[in-house]
Amino acid sequence: RIVYVNGDYLPEEEAKVSIFDRGFLFADGVYEVTSVLGGKLIDFDGHKTRLQRSLNELDMPVPEAMDDLLEIHRALVEKNEITDGLIYLQITRGAPADRDFAFPSADVKPTLVLFTQSKPGLAESPQAKTGIKVISIEDIRWGRRDIKTVQLLYPSMGKMMAKKAGAEDAWMVEDGLVTEGSSNNAYIVKGNKIITRHLGTEILHGITRAAVLRFAREAQMEVEERGFSIDEAKNADEAFITSASAFVMPVVNVDGVAIGDGTPGPIAARLREIYLDEMRKAAI
Ligand code: PLP
Repeated sequence: RIVYVNGDYLPEEEAKVSIFDRGFLFADGVYEVTSVLGGKLIDFDGHKTRLQRSLNELDMPVPEAMDDLLEIHRALVEKNEITDGLIYLQITRGAPADRDFAFPSADVKPTLVLFTQSKPGLAESPQAKTGIKVISIEDIRWGRRDIKTVQLLYPSMGKMMAKKAGAEDAWMVEDGLVTEGSSNNAYIVKGNKIITRHLGTEILHGITRAAVLRFAREAQMEVEERGFSIDEAKNADEAFITSASAFVMPVVNVDGVAIGDGTPGPIAARLREIYLDEMRKAAI
């Protein structure tokens, strides 16, 4: 695999980052994951805009290559012959001479790393037909979940708790209401209404969420942006999640209770189809 590190395209074995990099020592970094379908980037502009916002919110220096990100993504797709897959991008605050809690001076350059993950048939995932099971866990993450930082230890633990319970993912609950999934936004459907947590600092502002809600409204579906409880989810007609890598994925079971008849619902299926159709058309 050819990866990108600070201006260079290298075989992955040759790519190196300092042990003093603040991403490594302090989780002082942000990231984006953009999917590739048919060799083209899905919603590249949405991911780039959110990346810029994450950098601003953390006073992180912007890499010199910021204006070349589209070109770098495309070069990696080409060099690695990616048809379907993901491109991971990470910017960390760089490597000062020594470990220090205070941010380094402006002459320390941020570290920009990108790599590809080939996933043939990404959009034809069999899970989209069967749906996934989720468990609920307490949301004990920090308070700025709207910034896409690499601080992902608790979501990783959540995934492991889900796995142990025979489920695929964990929905996190704060003050009795679902915030989001470990790496996705969470939705329920009651009647014809799609319900998902409102935006704020409590959740990541999903790029897929924004597109899916826009398509839902354009298709005259009713959308309500508010928190919902696990009890409400258990009594919903449908449930699903969205993310750049899962697109729209049905959820058929919450904490061992089947949602609806325990199979993917029609609204989730329709939204997945519209999302994939429209985003493939707009891919660059
Ligand atoms: N929420 C969290 C915590 C995430 O990590 C992610 C994606 O990684 C999402 C939501 C979905 O965001 P997006 O649709 O931009 O991939």
